Amino acid sequence: MSKKQIIIEPDPILRKKSFDLEKVDDELRKLMDDMLETMYAAPGIGLAAVQIGILKRLIVIDISKEENKKNPLFLVNPKIKYKSENTSLYEEGCLSLPGHFAEIERPAECHIDYIDYKGKKKSLKADGLLATCIQHEIDHLDGVLFIDYLSKLKKEMIIKKLIKHKKETSKIIL
Ligand code: ZN
Repeated sequence: MSKKQIIIEPDPILRKKSFDLEKVDDELRKLMDDMLETMYAAPGIGLAAVQIGILKRLIVIDISKEENKKNPLFLVNPKIKYKSENTSLYEEGCLSLPGHFAEIERPAECHIDYIDYKGKKKSLKADGLLATCIQHEIDHLDGVLFIDYLSKLKKEMIIKKLIKHKKETSKIIL
């Protein structure tokens, strides 16, 4: 496994739509393993392939909190089949928006169809943190970030800070 570089907003690739995958093979499983390692190292609870620069509809998630009880979920070509009317509110962060958090309201429950690590078709009914995490990650596959749900002013403020941070970071590297 190898750790990949996570792309930080603003970056045009984060706004692109990812493409469906045709099959799950060893090459793809290696990519899924790399994504999981990258996510654990960050650390984060979800990562979409586009966040490491690959426009494929592929997500890794692990919302288990304890180090010794890892429970990774690999979602290939996930499709939302149902979203509940009732909503829940979570303070969301994102590995592509380091240091920024905001309360986002989303459907409290969602049902998805997807293909798993072994290439099998699966369905999943999610609620709570998992439902929010799945919706946040599927948004990435459609070029949507959580800041898109905020007011224009708040969103612009966060992007401005990220640009400033990027400049500062590159100064240190030089
Ligand atoms: Zn994210």
